[in-house]
Amino acid sequence: MSIVLRARPEIRELVPYSSARMEAGGAAVMLNANESPWTQTGLNRYPDPQPAALRLRLADLYGVDADQVLVGRGSDEAIDLLVRAFCAAGEDAIVISQPTFGMYAVCARIQAAEVIDVPLDTQFTLDADALLAAIAPNVKLVFLCSPNNPTGGLVPLATIARIANALVEHALVVVDEAYIEFADVPSAVSLLAQCPNLAVLRTLSKAYALASARVGSVLASAEVIELLRRIQAPYPLPSPSVAAAMAALEPDARPLVGAVVARTIVDREQLRRDIAALPIARAVLPSRANFLCVHFADCAGVFRHLLRHGVVVRDVSRYPRLADHLRISIGTPEENSRLLSVLRAHQAAA
Ligand code: PMP
Repeated sequence: MSIVLRARPEIRELVPYSSARMEAGGAAVMLNANESPWTQTGLNRYPDPQPAALRLRLADLYGVDADQVLVGRGSDEAIDLLVRAFCAAGEDAIVISQPTFGMYAVCARIQAAEVIDVPLDTQFTLDADALLAAIAPNVKLVFLCSPNNPTGGLVPLATIARIANALVEHALVVVDEAYIEFADVPSAVSLLAQCPNLAVLRTLSKAYALASARVGSVLASAEVIELLRRIQAPYPLPSPSVAAAMAALEPDARPLVGAVVARTIVDREQLRRDIAALPIARAVLPSRANFLCVHFADCAGVFRHLLRHGVVVRDVSRYPRLADHLRISIGTPEENSRLLSVLRAHQAAA
C-alpha cells in the first residue's frame, strides 16, 4: 500500500488549481495570465511554479530524480504542506521528539492535528523504542530532525530506517536535514529507494547562505511529491529567488560552499572548547550543526549581558529540559571573538 493512501482523502481527490504558467509557458504571445505586458524590471510575468532547471540542479545536488523534488519557500513551507496534506483536523496526529524545532508542532496546531511528544532521552538522543511504542492509529507523520535544532545531535541512519520500516504502511517519516551539511555524514536520501514512506527536507538557507531567498526542498517518492504539489500555492517561487538559487548551485560555486562549511565546523569546535573553558558555562552540548547549545549557570544574566553589548543569541530556555540554555549560531571569526570577549567580561564580573 502506498503511503499516499494515508493522506487526507479530499486532497487525494482534489482537482488542483491549474495555473496559466503550467498550461502554456513558452508561447511567443502570452495573453493567458492577465499579466502586464510592460516591464522595467523583468518581473512582469508569473514565474514557473516548479522551474525545471532548478529542480534538475537540486536533484543532481541531492542525488535523486527530478520528479522526487518539490521546491518551495524554505523547509518551513514543506512542513506546512506535509501536515495539511496528511492530517485531518481534529482527527490525525504527528509525532515529535522534544526539544526540537518548533514549527512541526505549530503547523500541527494550526491544522488542529494532535501533537504526540516522545521526548529525547537524557543524552538528547532519539528514543526509537519509545517512539514506536507511542504510534497510535491516527499518527500520519513522524518528524525526525537530524541534526536536531536546538540540541545539535544526529539520528543515525539505521534508526531512521528502523522507524520507517516499522511504519511502512502507516506513517510518513519526515527527516529534517536543514543542518546536515555541517554534520559531514551521509543524508537519509540514501534510504529513499528502500523506504517509500520517507521524506527528506533540505534547504538552501543554511550551508548555501540563502535564507533570504526562501528555497527549500522535499525529497520523496514521486507520488508524495505529486500529492504535495496539489496543495501548494500556484506560484510559490519568486523569480529572483530562483535566480539566486541557480547561481548558488552553479558547479563553480560549490567548492566555495564546501570551504565555508568546513570553516564553520572548525570554528564550531574551537568555540565549543573556548566556551566550555568558562566557569559560567555548565555544559556545551556536542553539536553537528552550525550552532552550539550551551547550559549557563545564569542564562538570563548572560543573555542580557550579551544583548547589552550588541550580541543577540537565541534563548531556548522555554524548550522542555533546556532551562538555562542558550543557542548560539556560529558567526564569522570576528563575530565569534566578539561573543567570546563579551562572555569573558561577564565571567570576570561574576
Ligand atoms: N528545519 C529546521 C530544523 C530549522 O532549524 C529551520 C530554520 N531555523 C527550518 C527547518 C526552516 O528553514 P527554511 O524554511 O529556511 O528552509
